[in-house]
Amino acid sequence: MKIIIEDILTVTMNAKRDIGRFSLCIENGTIERVSKKHIETKRGDYIIEGKGKVAIPGLINGHIHCDVTLARGLGDGLSLYQQDHDSFVSKKGWFSDELDREARHISRILQYIEAVKGGTSFICDVPFWHYGDELVQPLKEVGLSGAVVLDYRKNFLTKERINKEEYLKTVMYLKDNGIMPVVEAPAEEDFSEDLLVQLSRWAQEFDTLLHLHLAETQWRIKIIREKFNTTSVRYLKDIGVLTNRIIGSHGVYIDDEEIAMIKDAGAGIVNCPTAEMKIADGIAPVAKFMQNDLKLGLGTDGALWNDSSDMFSEIKTLLLAQRVQNGASSFNAESALHAATLGGAEAFGLERELGSIERGKRASIVIIDCLKPHLIPFYHGTQSNILQLVTSCVHAQDVDTVIVDGKLVVEKGKLRTVDEQSLLHKAQELGEKKFFHLK
Ligand SMILES: [Zn+2]
Repeated sequence: MKIIIEDILTVTMNAKRDIGRFSLCIENGTIERVSKKHIETKRGDYIIEGKGKVAIPGLINGHIHCDVTLARGLGDGLSLYQQDHDSFVSKKGWFSDELDREARHISRILQYIEAVKGGTSFICDVPFWHYGDELVQPLKEVGLSGAVVLDYRKNFLTKERINKEEYLKTVMYLKDNGIMPVVEAPAEEDFSEDLLVQLSRWAQEFDTLLHLHLAETQWRIKIIREKFNTTSVRYLKDIGVLTNRIIGSHGVYIDDEEIAMIKDAGAGIVNCPTAEMKIADGIAPVAKFMQNDLKLGLGTDGALWNDSSDMFSEIKTLLLAQRVQNGASSFNAESALHAATLGGAEAFGLERELGSIERGKRASIVIIDCLKPHLIPFYHGTQSNILQLVTSCVHAQDVDTVIVDGKLVVEKGKLRTVDEQSLLHKAQELGEKKFFHLK
Protein backbone atom coordinates (compact mmCIF):
# COMPACT_ATOMS: atom_id res chain seq x y z
CA MET A 1 0.00 0.00 0.00
CA LYS A 2 1.22 3.45 -0.88
CA ILE A 3 0.63 6.33 1.48
CA ILE A 4 0.08 9.63 -0.30
CA ILE A 5 0.10 12.84 1.71
CA GLU A 6 -1.48 15.47 -0.49
CA ASP A 7 -0.35 19.08 -0.67
CA ILE A 8 0.94 19.58 2.85
CA LEU A 9 3.02 22.39 4.32
CA THR A 10 6.27 20.53 4.93
CA VAL A 11 9.32 21.36 7.02
CA THR A 12 11.79 19.09 5.23
CA MET A 13 14.97 19.72 7.30
CA ASN A 14 16.90 18.85 4.13
CA ALA A 15 20.29 20.49 3.41
CA LYS A 16 18.59 23.55 1.90
CA ARG A 17 16.12 23.63 4.77
CA ASP A 18 13.24 23.76 2.31
CA ILE A 19 9.84 24.58 3.71
CA GLY A 20 6.84 24.62 1.40
CA ARG A 21 3.77 22.83 0.13
CA PHE A 22 4.66 19.37 -1.12
CA SER A 23 2.92 16.10 -1.86
CA LEU A 24 4.64 13.05 -0.42
CA CYS A 25 4.55 9.45 -1.60
CA ILE A 26 5.56 6.63 0.72
CA GLU A 27 6.10 3.08 -0.43
CA ASN A 28 7.92 0.06 1.02
CA GLY A 29 8.93 2.01 4.11
CA THR A 30 10.66 4.69 2.07
CA ILE A 31 9.91 8.24 0.97
CA GLU A 32 9.53 7.69 -2.78
CA ARG A 33 8.63 11.23 -3.82
CA VAL A 34 8.63 14.75 -2.43
CA SER A 35 6.86 16.72 -5.13
CA LYS A 36 5.61 20.23 -5.67
CA LYS A 37 3.18 18.73 -8.17
CA HIS A 38 0.09 16.68 -7.48
CA ILE A 39 0.81 12.94 -7.14
CA GLU A 40 -1.63 10.62 -8.92
CA THR A 41 -3.40 8.23 -6.58
CA LYS A 42 -4.82 4.78 -7.27
CA ARG A 43 -7.50 2.70 -5.62
CA GLY A 44 -6.08 1.13 -2.49
CA ASP A 45 -3.67 3.99 -1.74
CA TYR A 46 -3.99 5.48 1.71
CA ILE A 47 -4.53 9.20 1.24
CA ILE A 48 -3.94 11.90 3.81
CA GLU A 49 -5.30 15.38 3.08
CA GLY A 50 -2.69 18.01 3.88
CA LYS A 51 -5.06 20.93 4.39
CA GLY A 52 -4.71 22.54 7.83
CA LYS A 53 -1.73 20.37 8.64
CA VAL A 54 2.07 20.59 8.82
CA ALA A 55 4.49 17.70 8.19
CA ILE A 56 7.85 17.44 9.91
CA PRO A 57 10.41 14.61 10.10
CA GLY A 58 9.78 12.00 12.82
CA LEU A 59 11.32 13.22 16.07
CA ILE A 60 14.35 11.49 17.54
CA ASN A 61 14.36 11.16 21.32
CA GLY A 62 18.04 10.47 21.86
CA HIS A 63 18.07 9.75 25.60
CA ILE A 64 15.41 8.27 27.82
CA HIS A 65 15.23 5.62 30.55
CA CYS A 66 11.93 3.91 29.80
CA ASP A 67 11.93 1.24 32.51
CA VAL A 68 11.24 3.66 35.37
CA THR A 69 8.14 5.34 33.92
CA LEU A 70 5.83 4.05 36.66
CA ALA A 71 7.94 6.06 39.14
CA ARG A 72 6.85 9.24 37.35
CA GLY A 73 6.81 12.27 39.65
CA LEU A 74 8.80 10.63 42.44
CA GLY A 75 12.14 12.02 43.56
CA ASP A 76 11.01 15.52 42.61
CA GLY A 77 12.95 18.43 44.11
CA LEU A 78 16.13 16.41 44.45
CA SER A 79 19.38 16.77 42.56
CA LEU A 80 20.85 13.66 40.92
CA TYR A 81 23.45 13.52 43.72
CA GLN A 82 20.71 13.52 46.34
CA GLN A 83 18.73 10.90 44.42
CA ASP A 84 21.85 8.73 44.13
CA HIS A 85 23.27 9.15 47.63
CA ASP A 86 21.00 10.16 50.45
CA SER A 87 17.29 10.34 49.80
CA PHE A 88 14.06 8.45 49.66
CA VAL A 89 15.10 7.32 46.15
CA SER A 90 18.51 5.91 47.14
CA LYS A 91 17.13 4.34 50.34
CA LYS A 92 14.54 2.52 48.28
CA GLY A 93 17.32 1.23 46.02
CA TRP A 94 15.87 3.13 43.07
CA PHE A 95 12.53 1.48 43.86
CA SER A 96 14.04 -1.88 43.07
CA ASP A 97 11.27 -3.79 44.89
CA GLU A 98 8.46 -1.77 43.38
CA LEU A 99 9.92 -1.66 39.87
CA ASP A 100 9.94 -5.42 39.52
CA ARG A 101 10.12 -7.08 36.13
CA GLU A 102 6.44 -6.65 35.38
CA ALA A 103 6.43 -2.97 36.44
CA ARG A 104 9.48 -2.27 34.30
CA HIS A 105 7.91 -4.02 31.33
CA ILE A 106 4.70 -1.99 31.66
CA SER A 107 6.83 1.14 32.19
CA ARG A 108 8.54 0.61 28.88
CA ILE A 109 5.33 0.04 26.89
CA LEU A 110 3.69 3.05 28.55
CA GLN A 111 6.68 5.22 27.68
CA TYR A 112 6.78 4.04 24.08
CA ILE A 113 3.08 4.83 23.68
CA GLU A 114 3.54 8.30 25.15
CA ALA A 115 6.54 8.88 22.89
CA VAL A 116 5.06 7.79 19.58
CA LYS A 117 1.75 9.56 20.16
CA GLY A 118 3.79 12.72 20.73
CA GLY A 119 5.63 12.45 17.42
CA THR A 120 8.73 10.46 18.34
CA SER A 121 9.56 7.90 15.66
CA PHE A 122 13.04 6.87 16.89
CA ILE A 123 13.81 6.46 20.57
CA CYS A 124 17.07 5.66 22.33
CA ASP A 125 16.09 3.69 25.40
CA VAL A 126 18.68 3.40 28.17
CA PRO A 127 17.27 0.71 30.47
CA PHE A 128 18.69 0.42 33.97
CA TRP A 129 18.32 -3.32 34.17
CA HIS A 130 19.36 -6.01 31.73
CA TYR A 131 16.55 -7.83 29.96
CA GLY A 132 18.11 -10.01 27.27
CA ASP A 133 15.53 -10.80 24.60
CA GLU A 134 12.67 -9.02 26.42
CA LEU A 135 13.93 -5.74 24.96
CA VAL A 136 12.55 -6.18 21.48
CA GLN A 137 8.89 -7.07 21.83
CA PRO A 138 7.56 -3.85 23.50
CA LEU A 139 9.25 -1.61 20.91
CA LYS A 140 7.92 -3.73 18.05
CA GLU A 141 4.49 -4.03 19.58
CA VAL A 142 4.06 -0.26 19.82
CA GLY A 143 5.66 0.30 16.41
CA LEU A 144 8.62 2.51 17.31
CA SER A 145 12.07 2.26 15.81
CA GLY A 146 15.10 2.89 17.92
CA ALA A 147 18.25 2.02 19.77
CA VAL A 148 18.69 0.25 23.09
CA VAL A 149 21.71 1.01 25.25
CA LEU A 150 22.92 -2.19 26.92
CA ASP A 151 24.42 -1.89 30.37
CA TYR A 152 27.56 -3.95 30.97
CA ARG A 153 26.05 -4.85 34.35
CA LYS A 154 23.13 -7.19 34.98
CA ASN A 155 21.95 -4.85 37.67
CA PHE A 156 23.20 -1.30 38.09
CA LEU A 157 22.69 -1.48 41.87
CA THR A 158 24.70 -4.62 42.57
CA LYS A 159 27.10 -3.80 39.71
CA GLU A 160 27.24 -7.49 38.77
CA ARG A 161 28.83 -7.69 35.30
CA ILE A 162 27.57 -9.56 32.26
CA ASN A 163 29.95 -11.83 30.44
CA LYS A 164 30.80 -11.07 26.84
CA GLU A 165 28.98 -14.07 25.31
CA GLU A 166 25.73 -13.21 27.04
CA TYR A 167 26.14 -9.55 26.08
CA LEU A 168 26.88 -10.41 22.46
CA LYS A 169 23.78 -12.61 22.31
CA THR A 170 21.60 -9.59 23.18
CA VAL A 171 23.51 -7.39 20.72
CA MET A 172 22.84 -9.86 17.90
CA TYR A 173 19.22 -10.33 18.92
CA LEU A 174 18.63 -6.56 18.73
CA LYS A 175 20.39 -6.28 15.38
CA ASP A 176 18.40 -9.20 13.95
CA ASN A 177 15.23 -7.38 14.96
CA GLY A 178 16.21 -4.06 13.39
CA ILE A 179 17.00 -2.32 16.69
CA MET A 180 20.33 -0.57 17.10
CA PRO A 181 22.33 -1.94 20.03
CA VAL A 182 24.53 0.61 21.82
CA VAL A 183 27.18 -0.27 24.40
CA GLU A 184 26.79 1.50 27.74
CA ALA A 185 29.86 2.93 29.44
CA PRO A 186 29.86 4.19 33.04
CA ALA A 187 29.48 7.81 34.10
CA GLU A 188 32.39 9.57 35.80
CA GLU A 189 32.03 8.02 39.27
CA ASP A 190 32.87 4.61 37.76
CA PHE A 191 35.47 5.73 35.20
CA SER A 192 38.43 3.40 34.94
CA GLU A 193 40.81 3.09 32.03
CA ASP A 194 40.55 -0.71 31.82
CA LEU A 195 36.76 -0.73 31.79
CA LEU A 196 36.38 2.14 29.32
CA VAL A 197 38.95 0.67 26.94
CA GLN A 198 37.26 -2.74 27.14
CA LEU A 199 33.80 -1.30 26.42
CA SER A 200 35.18 0.85 23.63
CA ARG A 201 36.61 -2.34 22.07
CA TRP A 202 33.22 -4.03 22.39
CA ALA A 203 31.58 -1.08 20.57
CA GLN A 204 34.16 -1.42 17.80
CA GLU A 205 33.84 -5.19 17.61
CA PHE A 206 30.03 -5.06 17.53
CA ASP A 207 30.19 -2.11 15.11
CA THR A 208 28.08 0.17 17.20
CA LEU A 209 28.20 3.26 19.43
CA LEU A 210 29.44 3.72 22.98
CA HIS A 211 27.08 5.75 25.16
CA LEU A 212 27.82 7.40 28.47
CA HIS A 213 26.39 10.07 30.73
CA LEU A 214 29.01 12.72 30.08
CA ALA A 215 29.89 15.81 32.11
CA GLU A 216 26.35 16.05 33.45
CA THR A 217 26.87 17.33 36.99
CA GLN A 218 29.39 19.24 39.04
CA TRP A 219 29.82 16.44 41.59
CA ARG A 220 30.83 14.04 38.83
CA ILE A 221 33.24 16.61 37.37
CA LYS A 222 34.75 16.96 40.84
CA ILE A 223 35.35 13.21 41.05
CA ILE A 224 37.30 13.29 37.77
CA ARG A 225 39.29 16.29 38.94
CA GLU A 226 40.18 14.58 42.25
CA LYS A 227 40.86 11.12 40.82
CA PHE A 228 42.60 11.98 37.55
CA ASN A 229 43.35 15.70 37.79
CA THR A 230 41.58 16.42 34.50
CA THR A 231 38.08 16.81 32.98
CA SER A 232 35.74 14.19 31.53
CA VAL A 233 36.32 14.75 27.81
CA ARG A 234 40.09 15.18 28.25
CA TYR A 235 40.19 11.91 30.21
CA LEU A 236 38.38 10.03 27.42
CA LYS A 237 40.77 11.53 24.89
CA ASP A 238 43.85 10.71 26.99
CA ILE A 239 42.94 7.03 27.26
CA GLY A 240 42.10 6.83 23.54
CA VAL A 241 38.35 6.20 23.65
CA LEU A 242 37.12 9.58 22.40
CA THR A 243 36.16 8.47 18.89
CA ASN A 244 33.26 8.89 16.50
CA ARG A 245 31.58 5.98 18.30
CA ILE A 246 31.02 8.05 21.45
CA ILE A 247 27.58 9.41 22.14
CA GLY A 248 27.57 11.43 25.36
CA SER A 249 24.31 12.39 27.00
CA HIS A 250 23.85 15.80 28.68
CA GLY A 251 27.29 17.40 28.13
CA VAL A 252 26.61 20.27 30.53
CA TYR A 253 30.17 20.92 31.76
CA ILE A 254 32.24 21.03 28.60
CA ASP A 255 34.69 23.84 27.86
CA ASP A 256 35.72 25.32 24.49
CA GLU A 257 38.80 23.15 24.15
CA GLU A 258 36.75 20.03 24.89
CA ILE A 259 34.19 21.07 22.26
CA ALA A 260 37.06 21.15 19.74
CA MET A 261 38.18 17.67 20.92
CA ILE A 262 34.65 16.29 20.46
CA LYS A 263 34.46 17.86 17.00
CA ASP A 264 37.84 16.41 15.98
CA ALA A 265 36.83 12.96 17.19
CA GLY A 266 33.45 13.10 15.45
CA ALA A 267 31.65 12.19 18.69
CA GLY A 268 28.04 13.22 19.39
CA ILE A 269 26.17 14.83 22.29
CA VAL A 270 22.54 14.36 23.26
CA ASN A 271 21.34 17.20 25.43
CA CYS A 272 18.33 16.86 27.77
CA PRO A 273 17.54 20.43 28.87
CA THR A 274 14.35 19.79 30.88
CA ALA A 275 16.01 17.16 33.05
CA GLU A 276 19.11 19.30 33.42
CA MET A 277 16.95 22.15 34.72
CA LYS A 278 14.65 19.97 36.83
CA ILE A 279 17.50 18.39 38.79
CA ALA A 280 19.56 21.60 38.62
CA ASP A 281 22.48 20.14 36.64
CA GLY A 282 22.94 23.42 34.78
CA ILE A 283 22.58 24.65 31.20
CA ALA A 284 24.84 23.07 28.58
CA PRO A 285 26.72 25.20 26.01
CA VAL A 286 24.44 23.95 23.22
CA ALA A 287 24.67 27.19 21.20
CA LYS A 288 28.45 26.62 21.07
CA PHE A 289 27.91 22.97 20.09
CA MET A 290 25.86 24.25 17.13
CA GLN A 291 28.38 26.96 16.21
CA ASN A 292 31.10 24.30 16.19
CA ASP A 293 28.95 21.97 14.11
CA LEU A 294 28.92 19.09 16.62
CA LYS A 295 26.60 16.16 16.08
CA LEU A 296 23.85 17.30 18.43
CA GLY A 297 20.76 15.36 19.45
CA LEU A 298 17.97 16.04 21.91
CA GLY A 299 16.48 13.75 24.56
CA THR A 300 13.85 14.00 27.26
CA ASP A 301 15.51 11.70 29.81
CA GLY A 302 13.28 9.42 31.91
CA ALA A 303 10.12 10.07 33.89
CA LEU A 304 12.01 10.72 37.15
CA TRP A 305 13.90 13.61 35.59
CA ASN A 306 11.43 15.13 33.22
CA ASP A 307 8.01 13.73 34.10
CA SER A 308 7.04 13.56 30.43
CA SER A 309 8.53 12.62 27.09
CA ASP A 310 6.95 15.40 25.05
CA MET A 311 9.66 16.21 22.50
CA PHE A 312 7.89 19.42 21.45
CA SER A 313 8.16 20.66 25.00
CA GLU A 314 11.81 19.60 25.00
CA ILE A 315 12.50 21.57 21.80
CA LYS A 316 10.97 24.69 23.33
CA THR A 317 12.89 24.20 26.58
CA LEU A 318 16.16 23.89 24.67
CA LEU A 319 15.41 27.10 22.82
CA LEU A 320 14.49 29.03 25.95
CA ALA A 321 17.36 27.75 28.09
CA GLN A 322 19.92 28.76 25.46
CA ARG A 323 18.37 32.21 25.12
CA VAL A 324 18.35 32.82 28.86
CA GLN A 325 21.98 31.79 29.00
CA ASN A 326 23.31 33.42 25.85
CA GLY A 327 20.87 36.09 24.65
CA ALA A 328 17.76 36.20 22.46
CA SER A 329 19.64 35.87 19.16
CA SER A 330 21.97 33.09 20.28
CA PHE A 331 19.84 30.15 19.29
CA ASN A 332 17.09 29.95 16.70
CA ALA A 333 14.05 27.78 16.15
CA GLU A 334 15.66 25.92 13.24
CA SER A 335 18.61 24.88 15.44
CA ALA A 336 16.25 23.55 18.10
CA LEU A 337 14.31 21.51 15.54
CA HIS A 338 17.59 20.32 14.02
CA ALA A 339 18.61 18.80 17.37
CA ALA A 340 15.33 16.86 17.50
CA THR A 341 15.58 15.61 13.90
CA LEU A 342 18.66 15.59 11.65
CA GLY A 343 21.05 16.39 14.50
CA GLY A 344 19.80 13.37 16.43
CA ALA A 345 20.13 11.22 13.31
CA GLU A 346 23.75 12.41 12.94
CA ALA A 347 24.52 11.59 16.58
CA PHE A 348 23.37 8.00 15.91
CA GLY A 349 25.14 7.80 12.53
CA LEU A 350 21.75 7.56 10.78
CA GLU A 351 21.76 10.86 8.86
CA ARG A 352 21.47 9.05 5.53
CA GLU A 353 18.35 7.24 6.71
CA LEU A 354 16.50 9.53 9.11
CA GLY A 355 16.09 13.11 10.27
CA SER A 356 14.64 14.81 7.19
CA ILE A 357 11.87 14.46 4.64
CA GLU A 358 13.80 13.59 1.50
CA ARG A 359 13.45 11.07 -1.29
CA GLY A 360 15.10 7.76 -0.44
CA LYS A 361 15.04 8.17 3.32
CA ARG A 362 13.13 5.95 5.72
CA ALA A 363 9.58 7.25 5.84
CA SER A 364 9.32 8.56 9.39
CA ILE A 365 7.02 11.55 9.29
CA VAL A 366 4.87 13.41 11.80
CA ILE A 367 1.76 15.32 10.78
CA ILE A 368 0.53 18.07 13.08
CA ASP A 369 -3.08 19.15 13.08
CA CYS A 370 -2.86 22.94 13.09
CA LEU A 371 -6.55 23.75 13.21
CA LYS A 372 -6.32 24.47 16.91
CA PRO A 373 -6.72 27.83 18.69
CA HIS A 374 -3.09 27.85 19.88
CA LEU A 375 -1.71 27.14 16.39
CA ILE A 376 -3.61 29.71 14.33
CA PRO A 377 -2.54 31.47 12.17
CA PHE A 378 0.18 29.50 10.48
CA TYR A 379 1.66 30.63 7.19
CA HIS A 380 4.69 30.38 4.98
CA GLY A 381 5.25 33.12 2.40
CA THR A 382 7.52 36.15 2.36
CA GLN A 383 7.00 35.92 6.10
CA SER A 384 6.85 32.54 7.74
CA ASN A 385 5.96 31.50 11.27
CA ILE A 386 6.13 27.75 10.70
CA LEU A 387 9.39 27.07 12.53
CA GLN A 388 8.25 29.18 15.48
CA LEU A 389 4.93 27.35 15.51
CA VAL A 390 6.56 23.90 15.47
CA THR A 391 9.17 24.73 18.10
CA SER A 392 7.17 26.90 20.49
CA CYS A 393 3.43 26.33 20.08
CA VAL A 394 2.88 22.66 19.24
CA HIS A 395 2.28 20.10 22.00
CA ALA A 396 2.47 16.32 21.84
CA GLN A 397 -1.34 16.25 21.81
CA ASP A 398 -1.43 18.14 18.49
CA VAL A 399 0.11 15.18 16.67
CA ASP A 400 -2.42 13.80 14.20
CA THR A 401 -0.44 11.15 12.32
CA VAL A 402 2.84 9.34 12.92
CA ILE A 403 4.41 7.20 10.23
CA VAL A 404 7.37 5.09 11.35
CA ASP A 405 9.43 3.49 8.59
CA GLY A 406 6.41 3.65 6.28
CA LYS A 407 3.97 2.19 8.80
CA LEU A 408 1.02 4.18 9.99
CA VAL A 409 1.35 3.96 13.79
CA VAL A 410 -0.79 6.92 14.87
CA GLU A 411 -3.84 7.87 12.83
CA LYS A 412 -6.01 10.91 13.67
CA GLY A 413 -4.42 11.00 17.12
CA LYS A 414 -5.16 7.33 17.84
CA LEU A 415 -2.63 4.57 18.23
CA ARG A 416 -3.22 1.78 15.72
CA THR A 417 -0.82 -0.80 17.11
CA VAL A 418 -1.71 -1.73 20.69
CA ASP A 419 -4.80 -1.47 22.86
CA GLU A 420 -3.89 1.77 24.54
CA GLN A 421 -6.84 1.93 26.93
CA SER A 422 -6.23 -1.51 28.37
CA LEU A 423 -2.51 -0.74 28.83
CA LEU A 424 -3.34 2.57 30.54
CA HIS A 425 -5.69 0.86 32.98
CA LYS A 426 -3.09 -1.81 33.71
CA ALA A 427 -0.32 0.77 34.21
CA GLN A 428 -2.52 2.91 36.46
CA GLU A 429 -3.54 -0.07 38.58
CA LEU A 430 0.01 -1.34 38.90
CA GLY A 431 1.57 2.08 39.51
CA GLU A 432 -0.95 2.92 42.18
CA LYS A 433 -0.55 -0.48 43.84
CA LYS A 434 3.25 -0.19 43.89
CA PHE A 435 3.63 3.42 44.96
CA PHE A 436 0.43 4.53 46.74
CA HIS A 437 1.46 3.16 50.14
CA LEU A 438 5.20 3.63 49.66
CA LYS A 439 6.93 5.03 52.73
ZN1 LIG B 1 20.24 9.35 31.66
